[in-house]
Amino acid sequence: MAQYVKPREPFRMRKQLLLLFLLAAALLLAVQAAFLIGGAVRKASPTLPDGGPNALELLLKKQAAEKQEENDPKPEPAGPEAAEPAPSEQEEAAEPAPEPKPARIALTFDDGPSAYTSRLLDGLAEHGAKATFFVLGSRVSGREELLNRMAAEGHEIGNHSWSHPQFKSMSEGGISGEIVRTADAIEKACGKRPYLVRPPYGDVSAVVRRALGEPLILWSVDPRDWSLRNTDKVVNAVLSKVSDGDIVLLHDIYSTSVDAALAVIDRLAEEYDFVTVSQLFEEAGTPLAEGNRYSQAGPRKAAQE
Ligand code: ZN
Repeated sequence: MAQYVKPREPFRMRKQLLLLFLLAAALLLAVQAAFLIGGAVRKASPTLPDGGPNALELLLKKQAAEKQEENDPKPEPAGPEAAEPAPSEQEEAAEPAPEPKPARIALTFDDGPSAYTSRLLDGLAEHGAKATFFVLGSRVSGREELLNRMAAEGHEIGNHSWSHPQFKSMSEGGISGEIVRTADAIEKACGKRPYLVRPPYGDVSAVVRRALGEPLILWSVDPRDWSLRNTDKVVNAVLSKVSDGDIVLLHDIYSTSVDAALAVIDRLAEEYDFVTVSQLFEEAGTPLAEGNRYSQAGPRKAAQE
């Protein structure tokens, strides 16, 4: 630009100024022409509302918006949720159901709930194991939360009578009274009425069977946890006997039994699914019939062929 102010070249400077003037005039004409064309287009186009933006204006607006978008960096999502992967990815990862294990067991816990039951529920949840709780009606009041948790976490709640009496010295009416009273208390506590019954002491005498209409659930593995009260001994007693389709009898009123149950799950997690009593029989293709007694299920029925 310094050359324009050089006094030795006044003619060239004038020539440059003239060129600039002509250029400005041409630009002015071009702008005017564009406005005229724009007006004509607007009038000719029935799709564009009169006075609204024309195609050119829309295009310019769009270009300006795009340019603005380019300049503005995308706002970084803030907060802890931003660091987590998209929920759809998470769901996809959690979607496939775990492969069924070669065998399964139903762990059952009688005479509770107790102060140890919540620890047992924590451990079962940690292992993804399900169990069946044969609850005493007299222990429901004040422990409704535990029953609600059992139901909510996919465990089965069964009926173990109100006060754990010897049924053999009772009338049919007395026996059914114990069971109905307990079923009422469980249903009131967690909204689910128990179906399965485990009579105290496994008493399934003729009078008990006449008195009760529900399936009577016994067991096939009894480690005598109530007598051993020793975690390792209970674990060994279970492991030495257990096989596919077994029902294991335990009591969640002993801390040692809770520890033993969780240790058994740990040891057998590779080969065994831990399921509820109803699941055990359902998978074996054995419908539980009213008034019948059951102590063991067959192997899992092969999937639909
Ligand atoms: Zn019992």
